Order: sequence, then structure tokens, then C-alpha cells
Amino acid sequence: MSGFDCDLFVIGAGSGGVRAARMAAQRGARVVVAEAAALGGTCVNVGCVPKKLYSEAAQFADDFRDAAGFGWDVGAATLDWARLRRNRAKEISRLNGIYEQLLVGAGVQVLRGWGTLCDAHTVQVATNEGAQRFRARHILIATGGTPSVPHFPGREHVLTSDQMFDIEPFPKRLVVVGGGYIACEFASIFQGLGAQVRLLYRGEQVLRGFDDDVRAFLAQELVKHGVDLRLRTDVEAIERRPDGLAVTLTNAEVLEADAVLYATGRVPNVAGLGLESAGLALSPHGAIPVDDDYRTAAPHILAIGDVTARLQLTPVALAEAMVVVDQLFGEGRRRMDYEFVPTAVFTHPSIGTVGLTEAQARERFGAVRIFRSEFRALKHTLSGNAERTLMKLVVDAASDRVVGLHMVGPDAGETVQGFAVAMRAGATKALFDSTIGIHPTAAEEFVTMR
Ligand code: FAD
Ligand code: NDP
Repeated sequence: MSGFDCDLFVIGAGSGGVRAARMAAQRGARVVVAEAAALGGTCVNVGCVPKKLYSEAAQFADDFRDAAGFGWDVGAATLDWARLRRNRAKEISRLNGIYEQLLVGAGVQVLRGWGTLCDAHTVQVATNEGAQRFRARHILIATGGTPSVPHFPGREHVLTSDQMFDIEPFPKRLVVVGGGYIACEFASIFQGLGAQVRLLYRGEQVLRGFDDDVRAFLAQELVKHGVDLRLRTDVEAIERRPDGLAVTLTNAEVLEADAVLYATGRVPNVAGLGLESAGLALSPHGAIPVDDDYRTAAPHILAIGDVTARLQLTPVALAEAMVVVDQLFGEGRRRMDYEFVPTAVFTHPSIGTVGLTEAQARERFGAVRIFRSEFRALKHTLSGNAERTLMKLVVDAASDRVVGLHMVGPDAGETVQGFAVAMRAGATKALFDSTIGIHPTAAEEFVTMR
């Protein structure tokens, strides 16, 4: 260890960086972490957490309406957007403090500033007190990603998800461009909060990569909830006018908006990182290439999370951090298993999914059995809400193994999490069938479909 200032230098204190730094320090390693912005990274500050809080806020719009059928007279409900923002900001700064305590408590040295690689073992951090250099035995790059917006006339007028949490005033007319997680979630959230939302997607159906039934069903539900969904639609130009933004589409139609959100993907955060000084090159997609042990071309420099552009999900970054820490400071080498990573899209209704889509399963196994159930939740028999729920199982016919499980409906993420364990354990359809349901729930449908 001699000659090194620390055993592990982590660049970026987001989901992956914080977990790796903290766990390595708990195992006795000397750890330093550099963070240029707020502790906790994307997820805590401008991602999962504030997004989920706003999604909960939006759900109240439905709940107030649904309450009438149950005998409640709620009266006219109005949103105090400033109060919601204030309360969210307070909660996020509480979390920032907790992250700091976790790191410092574990013995990690936390530096506030931009980290740059000087060579394959040296990181320089530009702090308020001046530049500091560290020689590190291992370096972990966990710098995450940043929104990517295509180039077109008027690009300077658009916002990304980073700015949406504090947008002021509340955008009564919102155009959302994109068809992925962020576009669908934010369209749904802002529609629930009271905006008139137009969701523009260039392709045939939103949420490419998800099961086709789920995509079509969610699109239908978004429309039912009031989102103006325009498929095969793209933006030509955006212009600022006295009464707002004029969004000209490629079909020459002009939409008026108070704000335009571009949710067209995220790219790895590598600018200004000094990769070239450490002899590292980027993949064709701009990510840091790593092997199965998260080692870059320089073996003692590792990279995890969104900067490697694999699965851009917080629990994946956390799990990758644990693999790295085990490898460097603990139990030894083990491989991360990317099969059956569950995920949720926090739209209204939400999506929960794990495993293969029907199309993927057909390609991999040939013969598959499909079980599909679509129904109105018990609650909505009284609420009068037209929302419906979709549940789908994809089964490999030869082995009877359940290889895909998909849901669109309330609390889909909560429902699917437990089933993900069963599927990782290799559960068969026969095992699902022999499992007793919990009645009356929506989840019981997964064990009663025949
Ligand atoms: P990050 O969490 O992005 O952390 C990287 C950190 O590195 C940042 O704090 C950055 O400031 C810092 N940094 C970058 N460069 C430097 C440098 N040179 N020096 C010092 N510091 C640097 N995932 C889910 O699982 N569930 C969700 O519901 C979910 N919702 C999301 C909603 C939105 C709007 C977005 C944008 C993302 C969401 N994600 C969600 C994805 C999730 O946030 C990311 O996958 C996760 O944060 C990636 O973790 P990370 O450690 O790779 O990077
Ligand atoms: P996604 O990759 O999910 O979606 C990007 C969308 O933008 C796609 O619909 C894509 O279309 C479209 N698009 C890309 N380029 C253009 C363009 N030039 N013009 C028009 N449309 C374009 O990215 P997001 O930004 O939504 O989110 C980034 C990642 O963050 C997600 O993939 C996910 O991993 C993570 N995330 C996770 C969440 C969760 O777990 N609930 C929530 C939010 C984010 P096409 O399909 O045609 O390529």
C-alpha cells in the first residue's frame, strides 16, 4: 500500500459511488470520494426520489376524484406547487445530510469538487481550497449520466428532467418529447398535477424494449388519463413568442406550450474527466468500456453505474458497487447477474416488469405459453374510475419456467418485486399455480391465471 494516499479513490458520490466508498471504508480501506454537486447523485437529487414524490403528489388528483364514489365529498382540490417544491427540497436536503453522515461515519474522506484523472493512479480534485492530488491504489469512476438533447433550431428553449423539479411558474401547457421512462413518467406526473400535457414520440409506440402488450396498454391508459399522446411525431423547430413557446412539428402543425421537456435519453458523464491522461478511450456510444469485473483498459481503474451505459437503474449501480468492493476488499471475484432485473415505470397507472417480453421469449425459446388478464380493480367498481389493470405471464413451454412477468396497474412495482425473487429462483408456472393467492388483491391474479 505504500506510496498511495488511499486504497480507493471514488469519483462521483451518486448511487454507485456512495455505496462503494462506504462499504470499502467499512472493510478497512482508506477511501476518498470527490463529488462536484450534491451528495447522492442523480437518484437522490433529480431522479428516483423527487420523481417518486411528485408521482405521489400527482396520484392525489385521481384519489380525490375516486373518493366521491366512496361517499367522500372532498370539495375543489387545488395544488400549491410552491409548497410541494419546498417540501421536496427540504426532504432532499435531509437526504443529502444523511449521505454525508453515512460516508463520514464510515471513515470516508469527502471532497467537494470536480475530479480529474491526471494519470492511471492520480486524481486531482478542484476544491474551494484549491487543487488537491491523490495517488490511489484503485480508482472507481462512478460519474453517472446527463440528459442528451438532439440539435435542432430552438434547442435552447427546451428543458430536461433536471430542471423540471423546480420549474416556475407551473407549466399549464407542457410538451414532452420522447417515449422512454422519463417522458412517460413526467407526462403522467405533470398531467396529474394539473398541466395539459402533449407527449410526442417519434416511433410507433412508447417504451421501446417493454412488452408490446404493456406498451399499448399503458399508452391507452395515458390517453384515458388525459395525456394527448402523438405517435410518429417529431419536432422541427421551437420558437419563443410573447405568449409562450411555439413548437413546430415535422408535419407543420404548431403547438403552443409554456414549457417543452426533452426526455430523449441520457449519456455518460465523461466530459472533463481526463480519461485520455489515464490512457482510456470511450466506446462508440460514449461510455467507459469495462469487463465483467468493471475493470477498464487500465486494470486498477474501474467504472460502474450509468457511466458504463449498461442498465441505468439505481439498484443496478448499487449491486455493481458491491461486486467491486467484494473484489477489491473482501470476498473475492463474483459476477453480477443481469438476468431478471425488475424495473418499474412510475406512470399512472404504473408498470412493473421482470424478465423477458413475449417477443424476446419467442425468439429465445420458440414455443411459449402466454397468460394475460385485464380487469378493472375492485376499488374502481365504486370509484367509477375507468382505469384498468393488465397482468401478463410469459412461460417457456418446454421447461414450464416463468420467464416474463408484466403488470400495468396501481403499485405495479410493489407487486412485481416479490415475484422477481421467485423468478430468479426458477419458479415454474406449476409452482405459481400451486401458490395460494391473497384475496382480494390484484397480485393474486398472477397465481390464478389459467
Ligand atoms: P449518479 O447517481 O448520476 O451519480 C454520479 C455523480 O457523479 C453525480 O453526483 C455527479 O455530480 C458526480 N460527478 C460527475 N462527474 C464528476 C467529476 N468529474 N467529479 C466529481 N463528481 C462528478 N433509477 C431507478 O432505479 N428508479 C427510478 O425510479 C429512477 N428514476 C429516475 C428518474 C430520473 C428523472 C432520472 C434522470 C433517473 C432515474 N433513475 C431511476 C436512474 C438512476 O437515477 C441512475 O441510474 C443512478 O442514479 C445512477 O447512479 P450512478 O452512481 O451511476 O450515477
Ligand atoms: P430512454 O432511453 O428510456 O428513452 C429515450 C427516449 O427518447 C426514447 O423513446 C427514444 O426513442 C427517444 N429519443 C432518443 N433520441 C431522440 C431524438 N433525437 N428525437 C426524438 N426522440 C428521441 O431515456 P430516458 O431519458 O427516458 O431515461 C434515461 C434512463 O434513466 C432510462 O433508460 C432508465 O434506465 C433510467 N430511468 C429509470 C427510471 C425508472 O426506473 N423508473 C425513471 C427514469 C429514468 P426511441 O425509442 O425511438 O429510440
